[in-house]
Amino acid sequence: MLMMNNPVLDLIYPRRCPVCDGIVGMFEFHNGHIHKAGPVHRKCLNKIEYIKGPTCQKCGKPLGSDKTAEYCTDCQRTRHFFTKGYSVFLYRSISGSIYRFKYMGRKEYADFYGWATKKRLGKRLKGLGIEAIVPVPMYKDKERKRGYNQAEVYARAVSKALDIPLETDLIRRVRNTAPMKELDAVRRRNNLKKAFIMPQNDVKFKCVLIIDDIYTTGSTIDEIAHEFQMAGVEKVYFLTLAIGQTT
Ligand SMILES: [Zn+2]
Ligand SMILES: [Zn+2]
Repeated sequence: MLMMNNPVLDLIYPRRCPVCDGIVGMFEFHNGHIHKAGPVHRKCLNKIEYIKGPTCQKCGKPLGSDKTAEYCTDCQRTRHFFTKGYSVFLYRSISGSIYRFKYMGRKEYADFYGWATKKRLGKRLKGLGIEAIVPVPMYKDKERKRGYNQAEVYARAVSKALDIPLETDLIRRVRNTAPMKELDAVRRRNNLKKAFIMPQNDVKFKCVLIIDDIYTTGSTIDEIAHEFQMAGVEKVYFLTLAIGQTT
């Protein structure tokens, strides 16, 4: 399953390791053996941290000092619209990788991200009854400039790995929003007001999975979840590649 390289394409555009960004060749020498190379160096696999241990029952964030709490401090205070969320990696261990995936054209990382998602969360996600996978849409002009929407590239890999259909036309971003990191939580919410519309007001699905790269305050996902609920979708789960830890 880790072998997804296309030998011809590899000669023209050598694939990069999603952890160290070094070139991933055709073969790899590891622990005294030669292996056929996968999308990530074997030696790099132990440099990343997966989400494990007690997590928030709402957003899936690893719990900080109070390991017995049911919810993280944010979810205790904030009412979220989404049903429940899951993430694959601890943000600090994969932040550089996601940056390159987002801004430096490293779309091939999605093969590894999809594989890791299936390995860590495949069973749980398959048990939720998800009918459609929906990437967080990007404003069209922005997508044209960047060349791709990284959330959609990741969502496509997850859709393939879990064999659940991808739906990219259910929700559209109609406003370009200011970069979220420059805004505080209240401003983030206002910033997103009416940023998304649903072209059809009747959605045939009862259970969907929203996909994004990083979970921060959850305001983007909440906004989309709210739209879906108003259109009659009963369960709106989310999946992100990475999430931070409760402090
Ligand atoms: Zn590597
Ligand atoms: Zn939480």
